[in-house]
Amino acid sequence: MNNVSSIPRKPDVQLTSPLAQRLHLKLDYDQLTNCMRCGFCLPACPTFRETGLEQESPRGRIALMKAVADGLMSPDQAFQDQMNHCLGCRACEPACPADVKYGQLIEQARDAIEDEVKHRIPVRGLRRTVFEGLFPHRKRLKVLGGALGFYQKSGLQKMARHSGVMRMFPKHLAEMEKVLPEASANGVVEQIGTIFPAKGETVARVALFRGCIMDVLFAQTNVNTVKLLSEAGFEVVIPNEQVCCGALHAHSGEMELARSLARTNLSVFKEAGIDYIVSNAGGCGALLVEYDHLLHEDSEHAEMAKWFASRVIDVSQLLHEHGRIPVFAETEERTSGTVTITYQDSCHLRNVMKSSNAPRQLMKQVANVNFVEMKEADRCCGSAGIYNVTQPEMAGEILSHKMEHANRTEARYLLTSNPGCLLQMKLGVEKHGAAGEMEVKHIVDFLYERICHHD
Ligand code: SF4
Ligand code: SF4
Repeated sequence: MNNVSSIPRKPDVQLTSPLAQRLHLKLDYDQLTNCMRCGFCLPACPTFRETGLEQESPRGRIALMKAVADGLMSPDQAFQDQMNHCLGCRACEPACPADVKYGQLIEQARDAIEDEVKHRIPVRGLRRTVFEGLFPHRKRLKVLGGALGFYQKSGLQKMARHSGVMRMFPKHLAEMEKVLPEASANGVVEQIGTIFPAKGETVARVALFRGCIMDVLFAQTNVNTVKLLSEAGFEVVIPNEQVCCGALHAHSGEMELARSLARTNLSVFKEAGIDYIVSNAGGCGALLVEYDHLLHEDSEHAEMAKWFASRVIDVSQLLHEHGRIPVFAETEERTSGTVTITYQDSCHLRNVMKSSNAPRQLMKQVANVNFVEMKEADRCCGSAGIYNVTQPEMAGEILSHKMEHANRTEARYLLTSNPGCLLQMKLGVEKHGAAGEMEVKHIVDFLYERICHHD
């Protein structure tokens, strides 16, 4: 048992800058002092591996945070850059023998920075538009999906590409535009309604967390998720009042907005009367499963947040552990022999939701498929929410190393469990891979298309 007097206390220091005061207030000092500086986390960290620099490692970032909290260092621009260079992939957490909650520390640091830093007017406007004006509003996202779908299908996209107008955008955004899937205003509810019955005897009643961007760019994956769950014996409800999970907000220092979205989701899902809340996006699921921590200081919602977090599960894990798994097979029409597949872990699914075995077990059950493990499949692909947009250089370097490993598998299909990873890997195949020979897919789409006996 801890001797209370041995628990390090946040020092009572005089800090002059408002940012230093804010960091001092928000950083969890127990977590900072839990780090014993062993360095076991360093080999797991993609930014350390790319640069070899201590300040680009989890241990280095924790030391910087502690130096600021102790009043030994000013949180200057270099400090802020180090906080922003972190992918938030949380690969350092499973590697840490002291169980340091690094993910919480980096969110606290970014939250403090966002509270105090004055962005330039265009950046401020963009952040407000995206985080407050768009993501929390389903109707606006649908309008955006419809407009993007029109741009893609009407010939405007082709015109924009041929006219050279895309060259006006930063290179990485123009590259990203090329791999965007077909957007639509019709999400999963518009396509199949809010309740979908189980096939055969019902195993459990579950709710789908449809996501915000997921339901605009990957609505078909949401539909396939519901149908796959139904085949496995789950009745699926899709509460239509649900909102964005708040993950992008939390990772970008907008913690209050993330909490506000979480509170809406709590009541919506509580009313649905379900056994599980199913996520098919590792990035969303990782925040949903931590709603209890997100709202632990909110006495009115803390209990309900615990209820919510305890029911969140990834679709692969639910199928593998509780479902009647259908028979899957690669068909003769698609291949004359076996087909090789590989898998890129979603960092948040693996490191936060602790689900890396279930997707692999499901893939290995598909007949006529040869599963080849990609070297370092557990390492981040560089997507990391909007990291590939805000830190394109580091994201690009990480992706090019990732593709060296992916190409060595000679896989026909590269599967993922998160929309951000899926887009990043599509970009990787386009830039460094065998475009036309390797296809990137969500694991749900791959499995659903290979169910042997659809009714
Ligand atoms: S979250 Fe990822 S990038 Fe950030 S310090 Fe940990 S391992 Fe490194
Ligand atoms: S592994 Fe944990 S305790 Fe060791 S340096 Fe990294 S964060 Fe600190």
